[in-house]
Amino acid sequence: MRLFEAIIDANHRAVAGDASAGLHPAEFADALPVVALTCIDPRLNAFFPNALALPAEEFIWLRNAGNIITSTLSSTMRSLALACAVKGGREIAIIGHTDCQVAKTTTMGLLEKLKALGVDRARLPENLNEFFGTFGSERQNVIKACDFVRSSPLIGPQIPVHGLMIDVETGKLDWVVNGYDTLPAKAQPQVAKSNFSSMAELGSFKEFAMGEMKFPEMKIGDAALSAKPAEANVGSIANSAPAAPPPLKKSPLPPLRVAPPLKPHRDMRRG
Ligand SMILES: [Zn+2]
Repeated sequence: MRLFEAIIDANHRAVAGDASAGLHPAEFADALPVVALTCIDPRLNAFFPNALALPAEEFIWLRNAGNIITSTLSSTMRSLALACAVKGGREIAIIGHTDCQVAKTTTMGLLEKLKALGVDRARLPENLNEFFGTFGSERQNVIKACDFVRSSPLIGPQIPVHGLMIDVETGKLDWVVNGYDTLPAKAQPQVAKSNFSSMAELGSFKEFAMGEMKFPEMKIGDAALSAKPAEANVGSIANSAPAAPPPLKKSPLPPLRVAPPLKPHRDMRRG
């Protein structure tokens, strides 16, 4: 299983309520760090990088309004290129989200809002849609962004360019573009060397993790960051979780934990 396949798998299990869902970054060292472009929507603040089960130091996070890329040489493209060339990013993910306000903003609506802020229409470009890169479909926007990145002369052909969508209610990630599919044949990433993936699928993850793992373990569906109060775990994971989350267990593994897709504090309900 390759990195983002493992990420999606772990994410789906965590959202379904599997408290042991996660992945081991050391298994994917060749694919890290990840470079991600997301929207500026503050609802995403609590989801990254924990929704991907990645430690913060393996997550290079770029943001702009609408996770838009307007051309193969745009400012955002240059940042993506430098994130790979200077910061060592190995895989790129364009991550759109549900309920994006940029997608809901019409040209007329945008003009009115700009006007209310004192922006003079006469000083704006003729084609506002093209200039801002506004869009009507989050998924189409992600596909378009992936196309720009994949065809950009600034990005090496061996870098996988993925497109994903995240649900702002649950933190669930879904594929839009599988970047492994468009890699040159010789650049296909190696399948993880160990048999961790198959063991996880067989349900023996827990025993394996507890008994044999010697490197930091990142979990989506487990406890919040240890520094946070216990109350912060209430309401974690998805609203659709069938039962209350299991009690926190103390792990002998190094405390490099990621929080689940927590709801904002103001939504917390204390017993
Ligand atoms: Zn957005």
